[in-house]
Amino acid sequence: MTVLGAIDPNKVGNTSTHDHIIIDFNAILTEPIDKKDLEKMDEKISIDNLGWVRFNWASSKDNLTYNNIEDACKELIHYKNSGGKTIVDVTNVGLGRDPKKLKSISSKTGINIVMGSGFYVELAQKKNYTSDGIESLFESIMKDITVGVDDSNIKSGIIGEIGCSWPWTENEKISMEASVSAHKATGLPLLIHPGRDQYAPLEIINFIDKLGADLNNVVIGHIDRTIFDYSILKETAESGTFLNLDLWGHDSPYYPLAPETYMPGDHERIEMIEFLIQNDFEDKILLAHDICTKHRLKKYGGHGFDHLLKRIVPWMKLRGIDSEIIEKMMIDNPTNMLTIK
Ligand SMILES: [Zn+2]
Repeated sequence: MTVLGAIDPNKVGNTSTHDHIIIDFNAILTEPIDKKDLEKMDEKISIDNLGWVRFNWASSKDNLTYNNIEDACKELIHYKNSGGKTIVDVTNVGLGRDPKKLKSISSKTGINIVMGSGFYVELAQKKNYTSDGIESLFESIMKDITVGVDDSNIKSGIIGEIGCSWPWTENEKISMEASVSAHKATGLPLLIHPGRDQYAPLEIINFIDKLGADLNNVVIGHIDRTIFDYSILKETAESGTFLNLDLWGHDSPYYPLAPETYMPGDHERIEMIEFLIQNDFEDKILLAHDICTKHRLKKYGGHGFDHLLKRIVPWMKLRGIDSEIIEKMMIDNPTNMLTIK
């Protein structure tokens, strides 16, 4: 289900399974590492401060939001020219979702856009967003899927990214329970943003399994920034969920949202994929960039939405990863995931 309506699964093609074509990510605004730089938080991005922004990417207000249709089309044309067909845009409640803009961008570029539903982390929500209970959250997700988001009649094709913090909050568990109910009622895939702890995915998987989620139709996001221990990775993969290595190109190792850990590099993502392939999990791997800041767009000197197809796919081939497995990760697995069960 795209923002232009349902499409045949064989039209899905090369897919980035977690990205943000437009976003308002100011909910995560964080002070810079050097407190003497506080005034830089209000500066517009320019070539003079781009080095600072790349390191302190969560501290620049300008960096955390982009929503211009023309700019988005220019970014997506690069993706299209590199063979990209579909983008899963999991911008949902709390991240500035705008169905009408997504529809316009899809019409202008010919890129299939699958729009998200449900609720991002509690930090990004208005207070007491769950006070009306599970039922009201469930109904709002069901409306996104069956009628359309807000007054747009444009339908969501995925439930996600469902936000979980670490520790997982009570309100986020309510949001998850509503999301699982909608996933069971509609057969749409459920895509999860886990908290930053190696055991967070397993905690969530246990929780949703008890609620009757179809684990083969669930995507655990941000695997690359969450799990560093391969024995935990293997245990997580054995649950049957898809594993999304969705931060390709995010090459600033300092991670302002979790300074006690770090953001891995693309070479570590490739090693993780090699491990998963060796352990026969190649049917479960999904790939994406999770672009959510200006500094990763081409207009601001970033890698853009074509990073996977233009640089990582050729690099994986040079590393000896089989072309058929690459096609699985880029086309077949996303198609399986997005096909409504
Ligand atoms: Zn995201």
